[in-house]
Amino acid sequence: STNLVWLRNDLRVSDNPALSAAIKHGDKTVALYVHERTDGVRPPGAAGRWWLHQSLVSLGRDLAGIGIALIVRSGESQAVVRDAAAEFAVDCVYWNRRYAPGEVAVDAAIKAALRAQGVTVASFGANVLIEPWDISTGQGRPYSVFTPFWRSIKARDIDRPLPRPPAGEPIESSDLDSGYVEPEWAGKLAQHWQIGEAAAQAKLGDFLDERLEIYPAGRDFPAKSVTSMLSPHLRFGEISPRQIWHSALAALHAEPERQAATDKFLSELAWRDFSYHQLFHRADIATEPMQPKYSRMHWRESRADLVAWQRGQTGLPIIDAGMRELWETGYMQNRVRMLVASVLAKNMLIDWREGERWFWDCLVDGDVASNPASWQWVAGSGLDAAPYFRIFNPVTQGEKFDTEGDYVRRWVPELARLPDKWIHRPAEAPDAVLEAANVSIGRNYPRPIVDLQSSRVRALEASAELKEE
Ligand code: FAD
Repeated sequence: STNLVWLRNDLRVSDNPALSAAIKHGDKTVALYVHERTDGVRPPGAAGRWWLHQSLVSLGRDLAGIGIALIVRSGESQAVVRDAAAEFAVDCVYWNRRYAPGEVAVDAAIKAALRAQGVTVASFGANVLIEPWDISTGQGRPYSVFTPFWRSIKARDIDRPLPRPPAGEPIESSDLDSGYVEPEWAGKLAQHWQIGEAAAQAKLGDFLDERLEIYPAGRDFPAKSVTSMLSPHLRFGEISPRQIWHSALAALHAEPERQAATDKFLSELAWRDFSYHQLFHRADIATEPMQPKYSRMHWRESRADLVAWQRGQTGLPIIDAGMRELWETGYMQNRVRMLVASVLAKNMLIDWREGERWFWDCLVDGDVASNPASWQWVAGSGLDAAPYFRIFNPVTQGEKFDTEGDYVRRWVPELARLPDKWIHRPAEAPDAVLEAANVSIGRNYPRPIVDLQSSRVRALEASAELKEE
């Protein structure tokens, strides 16, 4: 018998329950990836598409090594999957689940259509630590606060990852390059990343060996680069969260003094599950504020300000550094993501959805759950969100988390020669200091796009209005 495994956000061979089941229960397995043009399924942004292509090439090679051909098609997913099932005379279709309400509906419809065609379908949990419906509060409701969610996850036995499936007779891997046009900006991103399952596993190993111990103290400092950088690998499923979970626990077993660092790291991984929990239990979180009153917010419309933010030309050094890091690498460190989001949604009072979309297009880890959930968290409309009155000050945050200005100097080279004291507040520096550093405010570096004090008051008033209505 022939089985089809439809791969989506699970581009790996090990710990892939759908793939393992397809191999186990059939004589022959065919793997399919669909570039979906389907209502309810959010297509990856530009940076994500670039990553996806490399990831598919890598997966195609890994699958060929165990005797499985990877077929890549484009179109409306139901039609493509049904056609492939007919073309290969498939008995059973296997996939790992996804969790956005639109995706769940698409998959349910495809399951029904295949069954009507006489094809069996089996689906598996593989891309979160715990299926969103398998965890709930004491009252049986979805969690809306992270800490009790985390406590509950920590107390669970997380499923052990599956081993690599047995190797079949290797075949020649198919040519997945046909039709793919590499964007001209791909070269700059490529310098920063190694893509694919083997690279993801190597990165996890390096992180656990070399950086886990300094993770709790160092993770907020963007110039230190101590975090795992696993997010794009997780986004495309080159590695699974339970592989990370159990590798971290194994490392802890060998060195028990790492308990606190391991807990911190795994709690961050649990934020990803918390985002998926929210995604599954709500309507569209990329467009609908989770707290309904925020749909009445009066956002400012300013294309010019939005573009200045996107290009890293706000005159706020840590913000500009973050936005330029994003543009050059497809990534931004977490603390800086919070700051740039806060400046856009609060100081600039521009709709967080504009920022969410920009991140979606530019991030290599642009994630259907974590991106909108984190944006809503910063904007104040999310669950367990930062209280509205807590508005980050990007200057003092810069001074705290990029004290020596290394991060700003790296991404905003026009400020590189400013002394530490002025690097986060160039517009306040004395003329002689600016001149010596070759900085001319308004000429080679912008004046701050917003006044931090008055824009803070404006944001507080805008949120107070929401309560009065
Ligand atoms: P590590 O610190 O090494 O953490 C390990 C893993 O845990 C990460 O890879 C990620 O999967 C998960 N994780 C860590 N922090 C968070 C968090 N706050 N929320 C959810 N998961 C987390 N993360 C994405 O993966 N995709 C996104 O599109 C995304 N958009 C964001 C937008 C905003 C405005 C903010 C504030 C955060 C966003 N994050 C997003 C969360 C976080 O910034 C990244 O996951 C993290 O910076 C990735 O780096 P890392 O892999 O080195 O993280």
